[in-house]
Amino acid sequence: MGKKQRAAAAAAPAPGPEEAESSTAPAAEPRLPVEVIYCGVCGWPLEYCEFGSTFTRCKEWLGAEHSELFDKYYSEDALAAKLGTISLEAQSKLEEDTAKKEAKAEARAEAELKKKMESQVVIKRVERTKRKHVTVISGLDKFGIDLKKAAKQFASKFATGASVSKVTAGATDDEIVVQGDVCYEILEMIEDGVGILKGVPADNVEIVEDKKKKGGN
Ligand SMILES: [Zn+2]
Repeated sequence: MGKKQRAAAAAAPAPGPEEAESSTAPAAEPRLPVEVIYCGVCGWPLEYCEFGSTFTRCKEWLGAEHSELFDKYYSEDALAAKLGTISLEAQSKLEEDTAKKEAKAEARAEAELKKKMESQVVIKRVERTKRKHVTVISGLDKFGIDLKKAAKQFASKFATGASVSKVTAGATDDEIVVQGDVCYEILEMIEDGVGILKGVPADNVEIVEDKKKKGGN
């Protein structure tokens, strides 16, 4: 992973103040592990934000979360230093391309969001026997969630069985079946955006009860 290594080198912290007073300290101070900061918007190391389609939002995020890093990357000095290495023409072409890419991505994101907001996740408590329940989750796939991975996450979180089951052969509306009644725990996981569930809007989640009919046994 050459990209990551390069990012790591660029993000190396400045030497700490304790290195100045070296009367008792050993000659070679152990270096702290280098921490790479990944962009909270596009997920790439900060050097790569400008190549993505969310550059404007990436910059806003960095300014809000790490203002000192924002200055390092996007202050006038930093930009001037960078400009020195490419021509003005190339720079304006780059900006134009970025604007186009962003407009496209924005339109796409908007359409996707609209579709998502119309989708619904249903968490259903199903009574199998008097004391045994399963929890059936449907609709997560509409939010781009990999159901197999989600089932795995539920299985390890609740130390129970969880699987993906097809509602109808060939259909896309598969469900996840988790052993036990974990309706509210799963709702909470969605609210907290745990792991793979990140991005599923909790407002679109509904919990329903599927009681065994009386005399069903
Ligand atoms: Zn970014």
